[in-house]
Amino acid sequence: MSVFGNPAFDNHERVLFCRDEPTGLCAIIAIHSTALGPAAGGTRMWAYASDDEALYDVLRLSQGMSYKNAMAGLKFGGGKAVIMKTPDFQASDALFERFGEFVDTLGGDYVTAEDVGMSVDIMETIARRTRYVSGLPLQSGKAGGDPSPKTAYGIFCGIQAAAQARLGRDDMEGLRVAVQGVGHVGYYLCKLLHDAGASLLVSDLDDARVERVCGEFSAERTGSAEILSAEVDVLAPCALGAILHEESIPAIKARIIAGGANNQLRNPEDGQRLADAGILYAPDYVINAGGIINVACEYFGDVDDAGVMDLVAQIGPRLAEIFDEASRTGEPTNVIADRKARKIIASAA
Ligand code: NAD
Repeated sequence: MSVFGNPAFDNHERVLFCRDEPTGLCAIIAIHSTALGPAAGGTRMWAYASDDEALYDVLRLSQGMSYKNAMAGLKFGGGKAVIMKTPDFQASDALFERFGEFVDTLGGDYVTAEDVGMSVDIMETIARRTRYVSGLPLQSGKAGGDPSPKTAYGIFCGIQAAAQARLGRDDMEGLRVAVQGVGHVGYYLCKLLHDAGASLLVSDLDDARVERVCGEFSAERTGSAEILSAEVDVLAPCALGAILHEESIPAIKARIIAGGANNQLRNPEDGQRLADAGILYAPDYVINAGGIINVACEYFGDVDDAGVMDLVAQIGPRLAEIFDEASRTGEPTNVIADRKARKIIASAA
């Protein structure tokens, strides 16, 4: 396993390999950058096919967190952790506590929170061994708790900005939006869109989730493959990443792609493909930053819940700037966002 030769290695400041035989813990913590502040990003618990795959994921995700936190204007650098669900893996309090001890050895240079496979309960267990944890239970009036409603609100603001830039629309009445994945983020997004008068087309692999949004928000259902090529104004991917690529892009009819899923482009060049197809793409890590803004406000304890909403609403104007630059220069939006993020990090460093 090569670290420095890994295609996702980007001069990461530190990579910590965490092994504890008694509990079976196998984890990797990657700190991409602390230029803007402690490296923050969730812990993903996943069954990786190999150590190499886990390393690639943690390196790539931690770099993405640097960009996301920079663009969100947070005093956070970028980091991420993965806990590997090896064949003999057994989740236990002891394993999560041991992981907390590893986080603690970094002395606050890495702040963890939830990502795929984790929960508020697990975060509380980790917090028995380290204070460098966010995403803990909500305390009345304060920032914190489940970040997905804030993520959804940021996406809603981003869709507004995109509809204004591409369709010249100031409201959402009758706007046709396809939401792929109606889990935590997708559900709250559907609620906001429905309340604003948009009409919804939804898909999910989990039928009960589809039933719920169809019942509550008069959404129509379609298949998970069909949704990408639906006749809609906006496609909002809120399930998995890597759905936008050479094969899928030519079939997309939406003029805007604006959703919460991480890493929607399979490759950076897919941003150019979208621009060539006349599709306005809201860079994922800019539009889905509402959750990490919530996490930052909880961690620093300096903003209450209403203040979090104000900060999340800034995602709209931030995207509008990127859209404006794209229309002036013809550059793909993902390229513009990456350049802006790198500039913010470089000027702090
Ligand atoms: P979730 O697990 O609650 O929901 C995801 C939903 O997508 C599930 O209902 C799942 O059944 C569905 N799904 C999976 N594959 C699908 C497919 N091919 N077609 C249709 N549906 C499919 O996750 P979430 O917290 O809602 O997160 C959704 C996405 O947003 C993820 O990519 C996540 O990384 C990203 N994200 C989430 C947050 C947050 O605050 N939760 C913040 C930033 C980014």
